[in-house]
Amino acid sequence: MYTLVFSGGLSLMKSVEGAVATQASPSVKDLVLLLFKEGPEQEITPVLVPGLGVYYTLAGFQIQADSLLTRYREAFLEVKRYVSFPSCSVCGSTSLRLEVLCPSCRQSDLLRIDLVVHYDCGFMGGVEDFIRDSQGLLEKCPKCGKPLKRVGIDYGRPGLGYKCRLCGAIFQYPLTLLRCDKDHPTTLDKIGVERYPVFTVSKDLQKARPILDLLEKIQAELERRLNVEVEVLRVIKGRSRMPHIIHALIRSGDKVVAIEILDERSDISDAMSVVSKAVDLGIHFIVILDEEKALELRKVLNPDYFTLIPMRERRLEDISDLLLESVYSFVFGKSI
Ligand SMILES: [Zn+2]
Ligand SMILES: [Zn+2]
Ligand SMILES: [Zn+2]
Repeated sequence: MYTLVFSGGLSLMKSVEGAVATQASPSVKDLVLLLFKEGPEQEITPVLVPGLGVYYTLAGFQIQADSLLTRYREAFLEVKRYVSFPSCSVCGSTSLRLEVLCPSCRQSDLLRIDLVVHYDCGFMGGVEDFIRDSQGLLEKCPKCGKPLKRVGIDYGRPGLGYKCRLCGAIFQYPLTLLRCDKDHPTTLDKIGVERYPVFTVSKDLQKARPILDLLEKIQAELERRLNVEVEVLRVIKGRSRMPHIIHALIRSGDKVVAIEILDERSDISDAMSVVSKAVDLGIHFIVILDEEKALELRKVLNPDYFTLIPMRERRLEDISDLLLESVYSFVFGKSI
């Protein structure tokens, strides 16, 4: 499971481990491809992660609800229904933690105790506060000193309760508070609710089909003609420990090279995301770019570091020889 902020560029994220780091995250377009490959018949349900808030899992990536909610249409998602999560009555945050407090001093150093009540004098305490005989049976009330003989008549055993270690108060029910990540306390009777959509994949996901078809054609061509191992939409972790989606990963022995496709719908942020993948993974990237977009995308893709192959209208046959040559030179020629 990968936890990421859902955006094309660089963003500040707080990882589940609690570390704060600047990380690149997969582009929406890459996530859509993975979603398509995994099969579109799925429900995408929000999950409340304790202390962190609401997340969605999309193609194996955990995404903060707020960042998905602004961009779910780009990922070809549709709202199917809603579910509610408890929220802070002051700021609406769903990142809440439960606090259990002493009702008299409102502190939280509590002990769970087995309660005993002496009906005659009204004293209530833990069983260990009472004076016991040599067999360990209850003998006397510590407050009034009277003997305790019959349970239900002289004294009661109402069950488990709490004792405050700070003020000594004994009680059956603690004060419960929910505290949000901005430190607002909310009592259970005032708790708010936040609704989050459950998504399904829309029919428009079919728009991801042509690029996946192209990747599968590339895979077949390379496997047939170069006898290399090609994985389409492979997720791998980089030096930053963050996972990246690679359009096609080619291996032969210990040699590795990656292929990315930037089609007519790609923009500078998609090109930037290829750069951050290459930097973080330390793998050579062959980038097949739509001819119309090539001029714009070349601005961030330095040809000294990337093998750039312009392509017209997804015509693989035109670039097939050049692609084979490029892969060949990296996998069988130079070492990476
Ligand atoms: Zn709050
Ligand atoms: Zn107390
Ligand atoms: Zn007593």
